[in-house]
Amino acid sequence: MVADAIDLAVIGGSGLTSLLDEVETVLVTTPWGAPSGPIQIARIGDREVAFLPRHGVGHHLPPHRVPYRANLWALRALGVTRVLGPCAAGSLRADVHPGDLVVVDQAIDRTWGRADTFFDGPTVNHVSLADPYCPELRSTLLRAATGGPLPVHDGGTVVVIGGPRFATRAESHLHRDQGATVINMTQMPEAALARELGLCYASAALVTDYDAGVDDDATMAPVTQAQVFATFEANVPLLREVLVTALAAVPQERTCGCAEAPGGLTPDFPA
Ligand SMILES: [Zn+2]
Repeated sequence: MVADAIDLAVIGGSGLTSLLDEVETVLVTTPWGAPSGPIQIARIGDREVAFLPRHGVGHHLPPHRVPYRANLWALRALGVTRVLGPCAAGSLRADVHPGDLVVVDQAIDRTWGRADTFFDGPTVNHVSLADPYCPELRSTLLRAATGGPLPVHDGGTVVVIGGPRFATRAESHLHRDQGATVINMTQMPEAALARELGLCYASAALVTDYDAGVDDDATMAPVTQAQVFATFEANVPLLREVLVTALAAVPQERTCGCAEAPGGLTPDFPA
């Protein structure tokens, strides 16, 4: 039987399909459909942690098919208030390399056609997303990452594209010129939906590649799916170490404003 309140959760990205041993799994149904898969429950110290593989067990859900609303809703139904959403990302900067961890603090949403809000009417709610990542949870994650096994960048903008294809060279140049640090396919609407439910959300982007490549440098060739999976998989044990350290350090009480972000409004269930 699951404990009354599971406060913490991790939504694992490509290749991160489990977090800890000795898990029990729970199936959660939501008004928004089924989440990506069964939710694994594990214990860190005296706290229980929920883990959900974003792309499903076996990675059968491409980024545009991830049931983002069901995932966040299911975690909240378990009592979760803080969510870490690590992800794979391509680098758009010469000083950010595969194997680096970027604890992002901004996002540009270039996705389209996704079910990206809980407030689909008749209740209307425009939540603030000026700062899409919870400052308190982000700083906890940053402290855990700093001095950890991976090189860390404090802050950065992730541009989120629809995928599943990778970017063209022209798109990659554009994103770089617009100030993005890394490129990914899943941070949105995940971060926005967490905010709509009053959940804290923070993420570390594990760099797996150089996106569309660096012109005139054959050592920085355009990304392939195999490269993303191989680099991510090679670094998963190190990423897991950072996440577990961060989860153990999350304060018991929230002092951020995430809980108040929805303004007391709750979404209407879908018809
Ligand atoms: Zn928060």
